[in-house]
Amino acid sequence: MKREENQLGKITGPLMDWYDSHARMLPWRKKEKDGNRPSPYSVWISEIMLQQTRVEAVKGYYQRFLERLPDVDALAAVSEDELMKLWQGLGYYNRARNLKKAAQQIIEEYGGEFPREYRELLTLSGIGEYTAGAIASIAFGEPVPAVDGNVYRIYTRLFCDSSDITKANVRRRIREELLKVIPGESPGSYNQAWMDLGATVCLPHGEPLCGQCPVEPFCLAGACQSWQHYPVKPAKRPRKQEERTVLLLEYQGRYLIQKRPSRGLLAGLWEFPSQEGVLSLEQLQGFLQQWKVEEGAQEREEEWQGQEQSVAVEIELLGKGKHIFSHVEWHMLGYLVHLNRKPQIPISSEGIVWATVKDLEESYSVPSAFRCFYEKIL
Ligand code: SF4
Repeated sequence: MKREENQLGKITGPLMDWYDSHARMLPWRKKEKDGNRPSPYSVWISEIMLQQTRVEAVKGYYQRFLERLPDVDALAAVSEDELMKLWQGLGYYNRARNLKKAAQQIIEEYGGEFPREYRELLTLSGIGEYTAGAIASIAFGEPVPAVDGNVYRIYTRLFCDSSDITKANVRRRIREELLKVIPGESPGSYNQAWMDLGATVCLPHGEPLCGQCPVEPFCLAGACQSWQHYPVKPAKRPRKQEERTVLLLEYQGRYLIQKRPSRGLLAGLWEFPSQEGVLSLEQLQGFLQQWKVEEGAQEREEEWQGQEQSVAVEIELLGKGKHIFSHVEWHMLGYLVHLNRKPQIPISSEGIVWATVKDLEESYSVPSAFRCFYEKIL
């Protein structure tokens, strides 16, 4: 272990020199007007957005989010629907809900002042060791590491370490080793140097650019060209496959959307109704027939007397779509159904709205899983 600590200490100088001239210019790294570090709020929002999302994709979201919610007070007060709309397309929507919860905690428990210490940051909703380390080191200069996938990848390559990096004891050991060597005078730059080296040189997919790497003289995997074996992770379980038929029901220029339940996948977001399985055109027509004869819909039955039988005047096939979540894949078939009257739809949900395209664009967060069909009505 000693050898590794010494080796780890040796890369600090070359890594920091490299960072001086190669640091990425990112909007959330802008220093506060009256200080020499970025604000904790901007580090926090960007780090949460960057979980599972690429830097380039985050930039636009980050800018819009900060324009609308520039500080903790604004975030704590935003409505759930507006927050979801701002987050629409980023996925993993619980991240956004936790941001709001943490903002409320900051107001209630810390008098509206962003907590400055790593240990305090860990008490906030949605903030784990990595994010707490990033905020504490970058915004407040506390010498704590921010250990993410980049660090695990570079570290295990440096030492040809085949420990399973999903194991808590392995993660703890790496963090403790970094804690011993992190430079007290510039911990934020040190952590960001690892991030940038992982993002631009020791790449997660494909061949790393060892020839351009500042720590190459210290790297065992670089010397043996065995980088592809690190980091070691257990094989992922295959994702569950689900088939769904998605219905875009249109009536007088409005489309039916429903709110998903407040727990589970895509909780609280708005979606087009869907059915399990792949419905043929005939099955779909049968389905539409059922909606107008639903039990208890007496008034509607009377209203319909004398009218033609079908509620659907035209059905268009929108084709197939696929969306991959972390544990499940949706394989979807979409139909656009033009209706000649509003059906009595037996869909249990938290709420149903007939929305115009403008409403969909401006007021409701429809997850990107439905984008492939949604785009056809824009
Ligand atoms: Fe990664 Fe290559 Fe640098 Fe080693 S030498 S840290 S494998 S880029």
